[in-house]
Amino acid sequence: MNEPNQTKEVKMVSTLYIVPTPIGNLDDITLRALQILKQVELIVAEDTRRTGLLLQHFAINNRMISLHVHNEQKKTDQLITQLKQGISIALVSDAGTPIINDPGYHLVKYCHQAGILVVPLPGPCAAMTALSASGIASDRFCYEGFLPAKRKSRQDVLHGLTKNSRTLIFYESPHRLLETLADMVAIWGAKRYVVLARELTKTWESIYGLPVGELLDWVKFDENRYRGEMVLVVEGYRVAKNSKPVISCDVMKTLALLQQSLPLKKAAGITAEIYGLKNNTLYKYILEQQVSADNVIK
Ligand code: SAM
Repeated sequence: MNEPNQTKEVKMVSTLYIVPTPIGNLDDITLRALQILKQVELIVAEDTRRTGLLLQHFAINNRMISLHVHNEQKKTDQLITQLKQGISIALVSDAGTPIINDPGYHLVKYCHQAGILVVPLPGPCAAMTALSASGIASDRFCYEGFLPAKRKSRQDVLHGLTKNSRTLIFYESPHRLLETLADMVAIWGAKRYVVLARELTKTWESIYGLPVGELLDWVKFDENRYRGEMVLVVEGYRVAKNSKPVISCDVMKTLALLQQSLPLKKAAGITAEIYGLKNNTLYKYILEQQVSADNVIK
C-alpha cells in the first residue's frame, strides 16, 4: 500500500490523471485532487470557464484546454502526442467524475493503447452519492445514465429493464422527470419503489422515496420538487413488493410539531396534505416504525 503523503511532490511522467471535482459543495474536493491540479503541466477540462472558477476558488493557476463531446476525437490525438512527449495531464469535467456521462473515454482508451500511465483519483460522483443515501440495496446495481429523450426509445429501455433485479440508477433532467416517472408507472406499475435524490451536497439537497405512482403525484404537487440536478434510484424487480417509503426530515419535523397538539392520525393527515402525500402512506409508515421500535425494545 502507498504511504499517505500529502506534502511530497508527485513525480509526473507521461501520466493522465482522472480528477473528480465537487458536484455542488466545493469542500468535497480532495487534497490529492488539489495537489494534482497544481502540479500537472496541463488541465483538460470539459468547460474551461467553469473549471476556471473552481481553480480560482482554490487559488490554482494552471494551463487549461477544453475537451468536450464535439471535439473529443480530434483533441485526443493531440493530447496523446503531448503525453508521449512526457507531459502530465489532469482530466476534469464540469462536476463529478470525468467519463461518467462526461467526455474523456476516448482519451483514456488511447492512453492505454499508447502505454501511457492512467491514474484515477477517487472522488465525487452523483450516482454513487445518491445510491449510498437511497436506502435501496446496493450489493448489485446497474448504472443506466440518462434515459433517451424520445418517448418511444425511453419506453423501450424501460421495458428492457422491467425484470432486472438489480438496483437501477438513472440521471434525469428536471424538464423530463414527470414524463419519465409516468412512463415508469405505465411500464412497471405504480408500486416500484423509487428514490429521487436532488441537489446532492447543495443547500436544497433532498432525498425522497416512494412507490413510483405516489412519487409522481408528490413531485407534481410542487414544481420546486423537480428543480435542479437529480438522480433516480430504483429498486430492482422482485424486491419492489417489500419496499418501504423514505419520509424526509421536513415531513417528520412537521408531523412532530402537529402531534404536540393533535392525535397521531389527524397530525399525519394534515402533514400528508401539506406535502402532497397519500394520507395513508404517512400514517401507516409511522405505525410500522412504532411496531418495529417496540420489537427492538422487547
Ligand atoms: N460526471 C458526473 C458524475 O460523476 O456524477 C455526472 C455528469 S452528468 C453530465 C450530469 C448529471 O449528473 C446531472 O444532470 C444529474 O442527473 C447528475 N448530477 C450531477 N450533480 C448532481 C447533484 N448535485 N445532485 C443530483 N444529481 C446530480
